[in-house]
Amino acid sequence: MEVKEVEKVKESGIFGTLSQLGHEQVVFCHDEATGLKAIIAIHNTVLGPALGGTRMWNYSSEQEALTDVLRLSRGMTFKAAISGINLGGGKAVIIGDAKTMKTEAFLRRFGKFVNSLNGKYITAEDVNMKTIDMEYINMETKHVTGLPESMGGGGDPSPVTAYGVYMGMKATAKKVYGSDSLTGKRVAVQGVGQVGMHLVEYLVKEKAEVSITDLFEDKVKAIAKQFGVKAVGQDEIYDIDSDIYAPCALGATVNDETISRLKCSIIAGAANNQLKDEVRHGYMLMDKSITYAPDFLINAGGLINVYNEFLGNYNRNRVFEQAEKIYTTCLNILNLAENEKISSQEAAIKLSEKRIADIGRVRMTR
Ligand code: NAD
Repeated sequence: MEVKEVEKVKESGIFGTLSQLGHEQVVFCHDEATGLKAIIAIHNTVLGPALGGTRMWNYSSEQEALTDVLRLSRGMTFKAAISGINLGGGKAVIIGDAKTMKTEAFLRRFGKFVNSLNGKYITAEDVNMKTIDMEYINMETKHVTGLPESMGGGGDPSPVTAYGVYMGMKATAKKVYGSDSLTGKRVAVQGVGQVGMHLVEYLVKEKAEVSITDLFEDKVKAIAKQFGVKAVGQDEIYDIDSDIYAPCALGATVNDETISRLKCSIIAGAANNQLKDEVRHGYMLMDKSITYAPDFLINAGGLINVYNEFLGNYNRNRVFEQAEKIYTTCLNILNLAENEKISSQEAAIKLSEKRIADIGRVRMTR
């Protein structure tokens, strides 16, 4: 084979993608008997074992599943690194209908695949996986976190995630307004689920003026009544006069269409992958003088929670203390972005990569 052809092989296909994104290992799991098809992606294990949840989704193609698991596992690497915890990034996806395909054997077979990696990948709950599913997986492998308190786990991570988001929001307010007080600030919370609802509680306590929306009108009405906040329509959330937009529902809500509509000066929320295009939309926000608190930093409370469970001797107070540090890290990132004239997303990735490189070198020394 000519040299040129060898180069072509090197750059194309799956290995080209892995080298571009920096993955270490991808495992395709298949079991004919149970119908299990899963992909486990290990992005980076320099700081520690790769931790990330298992998501089950009826992907329209295998390529779509692969793209999702590669993107999500890379995000976990940055999230752990920026949070100062000693974990790497990983993720697993199971392809199929979560309503009909999950059986005890199916889940235990997946558990066996996780176990075959000997702790290099640690799993947890994600979209369409329930506590009972994790219990079955746990029967075949001890490399599972995020278990309920009744099984010795750390329990619901959402209050910790909400606290981290609140800390990140306050730090961003400090940067933008010169004070971290949210009193009187108009905050638009999109999605009042597990995290959004706890966030609303913090904001109301601090006397912010909160508007909320959700897919479910009854839920919005009930929460608006409970906390004395304003209910707005699902699409209206992008147009209202607000100081802070807090996406706590879906990813990719910060995009070409919404950036032109948003009137806020800060975006700080819990959703993963808020920027549809992490490069272009990061810079579009800068042009519009909207300060963005990087999602993977400020929503890391849940990961901090499972990390403490993984370490053992779980202590809820210590978990909240660690989540509080998101405030300082967020300010550092916003300052770095300002000094280097780069987007806050880019600054956060830069700091994550620096920690991985620095600690990687430390680990090489004898
Ligand atoms: P959740 O499912 O409990 O809540 C999400 C809420 O958003 C639901 O009430 C849903 O009805 C609503 N929603 C969905 N689409 C919407 C839309 N188009 N407009 C308005 N509302 C909509 O989820 P959660 O655990 O609260 O997590 C919220 C977000 O934060 C998710 O993106 C999740 O991936 C991310 N996150 C959560 C955690 C955690 O600890 N739970 C940790 C990190 C990141």
